[in-house]
Amino acid sequence: GFKTGIVGLPNVGKSTLFNALTRTAAAQAANFPFCTIEPNVGEVAVPDTRLAKLADIAKSKQVIPTRLTFVDIAGLVKGASKGEGLGNQFLANIREVDAIAHVLRCFEDPDVTHVEGRVDPVADAETIETELMLADLESIEKRLQGLVRKVRGGDKEAVLQERLLKQAAEALEDGRPARTVAVAEDDRKTWQGLQLLTQKPVLYVCNVDEAEAATGNAHSEAIAKKAAEEGAVSVVISARIEEEISQLDAEEAEMFLDEMGLEEAGLDRMIRAGYELLGLQTYFTVGPKEARAWTVRRGTLAPQAAGVIHGDFERGFIRAETIAYDDFVALNGEQGAKDAGKMRVEGKAYEVKDGDVLHFLFNA
Ligand code: GDP
Repeated sequence: GFKTGIVGLPNVGKSTLFNALTRTAAAQAANFPFCTIEPNVGEVAVPDTRLAKLADIAKSKQVIPTRLTFVDIAGLVKGASKGEGLGNQFLANIREVDAIAHVLRCFEDPDVTHVEGRVDPVADAETIETELMLADLESIEKRLQGLVRKVRGGDKEAVLQERLLKQAAEALEDGRPARTVAVAEDDRKTWQGLQLLTQKPVLYVCNVDEAEAATGNAHSEAIAKKAAEEGAVSVVISARIEEEISQLDAEEAEMFLDEMGLEEAGLDRMIRAGYELLGLQTYFTVGPKEARAWTVRRGTLAPQAAGVIHGDFERGFIRAETIAYDDFVALNGEQGAKDAGKMRVEGKAYEVKDGDVLHFLFNA
């Protein structure tokens, strides 16, 4: 599955937020026995109102959402790139995730100590980014040394790696994360393979006071501006509200959200933002037994999409009967869509679209 790592300086509200996530995950886990929960890992359902609608039409017995994994990555302090605190472990953990959710303190509260003695989320974001950039520069230097012999031998892939590493280094020395480097389509695969920390997409999570959850504040606005400038994404959330919601049942939660002037839980917005950020999309399988959502990267072809369900589906792939979500709903299900000629038969080269309702045919 796809993983998002939650990072942030001490006392910004990470644990509060992560507790809310894991409590939500645990409540969901009762219905999903296959879902494993470790102390620092939360697997949460990706909220998607389309799934219930499909299940309703098909009278599916079970509804199974797709999920996204969050990992609590503790231990970031200034100097992490120099191995201070849990520095090395911290960086190793970040290497493992697909995206970074960066929790920032956007609330004022004299009772909660700030490590730097002031509330300044833009500076905090830079503190963490600086550590990641320094770590990248160090690993680039090592890797360039490791490539010298191969480059001299004329190894084409090594030559390309060297060029891209140097481009990344140039950006980093200029104070910009590696994700700001524009890379040609042909070089993209090698680029991804470099596995630099600052290549990973970033979601800024602005933790504001309860009273500002619906509106945000000057701090969260400053972060939104920063995010827009660097191709990142930001959400406003109140960790304390999320913690309270995670202890309520669905009906109580709705009333509580209403009272706070919120349309939906911040966690749901955060999960969806993470999903978008990772470039993910959803397809559905729908039948009387279950309606289920599955996650694939945008641009995934039908056989690989089938492979998410089972390796055999991919190996023996023949075709995918495909109904667009809107057609499925408008024509009241599979039969109606079929009758109206809206069921397409797609082959190996079909690029799965968000919301497709798919039925795979394969050789066992
Ligand atoms: P962590 O060190 O980043 O994991 O931070 P914690 O989640 O432990 O939070 C640090 C302290 O800040 C705790 O006492 C929280 O109750 C408090 N806190 C978290 N979010 C908020 C908030 O939105 N407003 C206020 N006033 N306090 C908060």
